[in-house]
Amino acid sequence: MKTKRNPNCIFCQIIEGKIPCYKIYEDETTLAFLDISKDVEGHTLVIPKKHQASMQDATNCTLHNVFKTVNKICKHYYAKGYTGMRIQINSGETVGQSVHHLHVHILPTKATQPLKEPATKPLQINLEELANLLRLP
Ligand code: AMP
Ligand code: ZN
Repeated sequence: MKTKRNPNCIFCQIIEGKIPCYKIYEDETTLAFLDISKDVEGHTLVIPKKHQASMQDATNCTLHNVFKTVNKICKHYYAKGYTGMRIQINSGETVGQSVHHLHVHILPTKATQPLKEPATKPLQINLEELANLLRLP
């Protein structure tokens, strides 16, 4: 598949394996991995493998592929015991987009783990162990 990457983009570097990530799922067009911030247990990012900066740059095909993966991961996380997901996209600097490669945040919740707003200090999470637990087969 022909892919367009931006060598200065941290998420493109993750796709190319130049920067490690805690992978949850990968297919031909998308990659999902744990967010490094440890603000919410299971916080996952889904990205297209083609570099598209944000929503206004995204093609229908990319959105289809990305949301197909979001859907797959949500189903899997429900099966793993989470009972709610916030699905969020920050598109543009004035809304706080810090990485300019389109990404969908999945923020899983359960009764014992409600979303705290605003997020407090980082949680004590071992991302490697969590990724091993949540990774799709
Ligand atoms: P946004 O503010 O919507 O652009 O979100 C960017 C997200 O990327 C933040 O939640 C960061 O914690 C996350 N992030 C940045 N670098 C990495 C990385 N190397 N691995 C995993 N997540 C990252
Ligand atoms: Zn990129």
